[in-house]
Amino acid sequence: MKAFFADEQRRHDPKAFLSSGAPQPNPEKPERVERLLAGARAAGCEIVRPRDFGLGPIAAVHTPEYLEFLENIFARWRRIEGASAEVIPNIHPIARGGSYPASAVGQAGYHMADTACPISAETFDSACWSAWSAVEAAEAVMSGAPAAYALCRPPGHHAFADVAGGFCFINNSAVAAEHLRKSAARVAILDVDLHHGNGTQGIFYARPDVLTVSIHADPVRFYPFFWGHADERGEGPGLGYNLNLPLTRKSGDERFLEALATARQRIRAFAPDALVVALGLDAFEGDPFGGLSVTTPGFSRIAEAIAGLGLPTVIVQEGGYLCDALGDNLTAFLGGYGNALKV
Ligand SMILES: [Zn+2]
Repeated sequence: MKAFFADEQRRHDPKAFLSSGAPQPNPEKPERVERLLAGARAAGCEIVRPRDFGLGPIAAVHTPEYLEFLENIFARWRRIEGASAEVIPNIHPIARGGSYPASAVGQAGYHMADTACPISAETFDSACWSAWSAVEAAEAVMSGAPAAYALCRPPGHHAFADVAGGFCFINNSAVAAEHLRKSAARVAILDVDLHHGNGTQGIFYARPDVLTVSIHADPVRFYPFFWGHADERGEGPGLGYNLNLPLTRKSGDERFLEALATARQRIRAFAPDALVVALGLDAFEGDPFGGLSVTTPGFSRIAEAIAGLGLPTVIVQEGGYLCDALGDNLTAFLGGYGNALKV
């Protein structure tokens, strides 16, 4: 299987992060790349640099207003006397019904959901290359590869059409799905990250051509809190095209695989032409977020079950944070996927 990654994706290096109000080092570190590259290589992947696809595939899911913000906000922020070294919002609209602010501080609050996604000089370029890795993986699958892996970092699934959040700026899984739509009538996105894929859900919530399914720790007491509940089923023409499968905290392999069986059933009933897997490895029992208890062999079983759908598949890296087994968990997933395809 080919794995797509560009060196520019290492440059985004966020420092700030508030956890339960307390300043902590941001866990979305460039070091994740080294672990994930090692994991992909150990699974037999060839690492390939993506092409620069321009803003087109990104603008297909994000508003021009937001992309202009992402590209320019850092330079504007640095002109504010006494401003922080990274763009971090300190005020948010309680609803989006008001006016669009002209100031950098106002726009940061409008376009950033939380404090976990600080923007620096390198952020926009890194995020574009991360998205282009997803586009190149989609291109590989559209050209006949049964599966391709995009080592997307920074990750994407918490980014809405015009909002960054939770370490995410450009929604790589959504970009891949929208790109696949050029040749696929229906695309399913299966999100197995520890956290609900709220941005992805939001982007496709009113659409019947992209099914979104997410398995994650119950948001009743877990990020992203406001989304990911079982009663969120889509709206308008998209009603019935979103499925959330929240799991009790610390659920392990068996509970996860049960939810995955439900997810597979819904995906089969949708009869998609292609699949995007939003692959978070933070459901791991040893991940610093500690939300679920999937084991390393569990990731192989999850991959085998997904491969059993028999769909052309783009695997997009989402979360999964620094711990000894991060690379091994990716090897387990990609290896499990590859083995299942050979059967
Ligand atoms: Zn996550």
